[in-house]
Amino acid sequence: PRLKIAVSDCLRGTECRYNGGHAQDDFINQALAKYADFLPFCPEAPVLGTPRETIRLVNVDGTIRVRGTRTEQDVTEGIQRYNDKMVPKLLQQGVDGAVVKSRSPTCGLERIKIYRPSGEWFGSQDKMGQGLFTAELQHQAPELAVEEEGRLQDAWLRENFMMRVFTTARWREF
Ligand code: SF4
Repeated sequence: PRLKIAVSDCLRGTECRYNGGHAQDDFINQALAKYADFLPFCPEAPVLGTPRETIRLVNVDGTIRVRGTRTEQDVTEGIQRYNDKMVPKLLQQGVDGAVVKSRSPTCGLERIKIYRPSGEWFGSQDKMGQGLFTAELQHQAPELAVEEEGRLQDAWLRENFMMRVFTTARWREF
């Protein structure tokens, strides 16, 4: 079967990043595209527009919020509403795996800096978090193969990801 892969839309070349740019990724658009149909998502552009202020994760009394880097405007609820609609939609469509954009406070898989409300970074590796969208995706589908585009440069991680995705796709066929 053709694989169904959810992809951060900017990795496909869509100009939806905060600065109006994209993050086109060769592995996704050349190698993976031979085997996969893509289910694109972008948790920020439909909510905040493009171009837009950069946002970051902020720990407010133990709860992770998303705030504008400069204005500190809290945009968590809009992004959560997007996630609440899009994550179930991807799962209903029978997604086999996801490739997410690294270093994004909404799409990143890991190592996303969490700041204090005062604006300082906690400064410690164990205070790094996940992007809000990817956290929700993994919460609703803990077995789903999810990787960042940068980690797929590593041959072993790429092979492992593809094996998991093919296995899921085969089960979907039954
Ligand atoms: Fe790319 Fe995700 Fe940022 Fe949208 S929110 S531009 S898909 S990294």
